Amino acid sequence: MDKQTLSFQAEVKQILHLVTHSLYSNKEIFLRELVSNASDACDKLRFEALNNAALFEDAPNLEVRVSFDAEAKTITIADNGIGLSADEAVANLGTIAKSGTREFMAALDGDKKKDAQLIGQFGVGFYSGFIVADRISVESRRAGLPAEQGVRWSSEGSGDFEVETITRAQRGTSVTLHLREGEEEFLNGWKLKSVIGKYSDHISLPILMQKEEWDAEAQKQVVREEWVPVNKAAALWTRSKSDITADEYTEFYKQISYDTEAPLAYTHNRVEGRSEYTQLLYIPAKAPFDLWNRDKRGGVKLYVKRVFIMDDAEALMPVYLRFVKGVIDSADLPLNVSRELLQESRDVKAIREGSTKRVLSMLEGLADNEDAAEKARYAAFWNDFGVVLKEGVGEDHANHERLTKLLRFASTQADEGVSLTDYVARMKEGQEAIYYITADSMAAAKSSPQIEIFRKKGIEVLLLIDRVDEWLLSHLHEFDGKALQSVAKGAVDLGSLQDEAEKKQAEETATTFKPVLDRLKEALKDRAKDVRVTTRLVDSPACLVVEEGDMSGHLARLLKQAGQSAPKSLPTLEVNADHALVKRLDGNAHFEDLAHILFDQALLAEGGQLEDPAAYVKRVNALLVG
Ligand code: ADP
Ligand code: MG
Repeated sequence: MDKQTLSFQAEVKQILHLVTHSLYSNKEIFLRELVSNASDACDKLRFEALNNAALFEDAPNLEVRVSFDAEAKTITIADNGIGLSADEAVANLGTIAKSGTREFMAALDGDKKKDAQLIGQFGVGFYSGFIVADRISVESRRAGLPAEQGVRWSSEGSGDFEVETITRAQRGTSVTLHLREGEEEFLNGWKLKSVIGKYSDHISLPILMQKEEWDAEAQKQVVREEWVPVNKAAALWTRSKSDITADEYTEFYKQISYDTEAPLAYTHNRVEGRSEYTQLLYIPAKAPFDLWNRDKRGGVKLYVKRVFIMDDAEALMPVYLRFVKGVIDSADLPLNVSRELLQESRDVKAIREGSTKRVLSMLEGLADNEDAAEKARYAAFWNDFGVVLKEGVGEDHANHERLTKLLRFASTQADEGVSLTDYVARMKEGQEAIYYITADSMAAAKSSPQIEIFRKKGIEVLLLIDRVDEWLLSHLHEFDGKALQSVAKGAVDLGSLQDEAEKKQAEETATTFKPVLDRLKEALKDRAKDVRVTTRLVDSPACLVVEEGDMSGHLARLLKQAGQSAPKSLPTLEVNADHALVKRLDGNAHFEDLAHILFDQALLAEGGQLEDPAAYVKRVNALLVG
């Protein structure tokens, strides 16, 4: 291929702009990124070579070499990994393939400060070289291709890049950064070594640098020809727990997750049994920007005897634990089978089950801890990841019960952190069900008329306001033998919580009130399935409930917002016979208007929308004037 000038994809230009404008306060990460790419390239070669040993050519020892040239003001990161063909160089260094990153770029709102924080959450990758370089040139040859099919790629990191074919004997890739004016601090062996030590110590292949020595004759430091390793090159997870410091665990986490914060918790175990493997799993302290993205992959990496095999997230972790990061290294999976076969293998399934249980134990360890600080850590976790964990209740039947114990809610007694276990422990004498209400907001939930009687009697009601809660409830029918019961569904039945006198009075009211109820039913026959008196209400005149088995008004509204059609079923209007407004109904000249106003207000009170707001206003005004 003759020299060609090509334009970067639009998203790459955006990334380049962000990287060079937002990350200058943390410049040194470019080295972490380029070393990590070199290491990935070696992993890829090792993997492809499992089925094609010839790819190793005559250099089976994989390694990364980092060097600098003080006069030319360049730093070079070279690897003998898989390398790039010319087409791959164009595709991989000129476009962003990963959909997560692309979506992220598309969603950016240009708010610089926020962007700078967000950008740290995903690998900024190859382009981070432009933080310190005003030109990057890459020379590469893909393993297995002839020397004449090497490629040179170079760019100044603005709009375009150049590619041309070159002859290159060595396999692999060499990335040379031409440093910007003012970045000379990196032209220093000690500095480079310390950055590598900080970020890349756990890279499991040797990172070599040239030996520097004091030359007594010349009276200065000189760089020798000899290359020596500057990292430990022992994959952290293979080391014994007792030899690893908390700092090392944290650094390793940051390296694999690109998180800038320390993890919330981690677990490191050697599992023995039918299948033997090591797991090192982390829970982040904060949710990543793309937590909602269920297709995201790559949180947990599978190695077999330290050879990277895949990061197919779903094969290794259930979707609802997609925030978990870490490494699983199997001692006995076959190395030379395809990823597709591995995903189906019983051993991988066993690893997935074992790892899922580990993560749940880790969470339980925080949640059930007597120590207030640990409990607070669980509260923080729940705040960020609770919504995702709820997905598990419906998806993971094997761990259903453990997951329900990890759930936390708001209730009429505490604004957050109420577990079902807490709730059951506080249940009133004679209370048989766990009561809840779903609503669009905390304010709406707290003031819903349906919970008035529960408040009056001091019965706790869970307040569910997450969008996923309705879905969660369709998979959570009981806990500890107690049914979960919506306070907005069916006639209120407090069972033995209601005393005999109350019950008797309610029955009497229903009888004496019958003529009014019949008229209400007639007036509202197109809007309400039924009208009845209730003991549910204390301060409000009326509320809407749906029959057991019908869809709640809240869920119907959610579906409508999501553009889906909800089966249309009419609600039941319940009225409070003790309320002044309801008492005025009997014999009232404006009976019809009052009936509709009662219904409309009940709908408004639960966050619903009036179908005909103008008619409502007209009716209220007529009454105000009259
Ligand atoms: P990521 O590493 O997350 O894929 P990067 O921006 O770091 O993103 O790298 C983009 C792509 O460029 C890589 O996926 C890989 O295909 C290619 N690449 C980068 N560095 C190398 C290298 N040293 N050897 C081979 N391919 C590389
Ligand atoms: Mg990378």
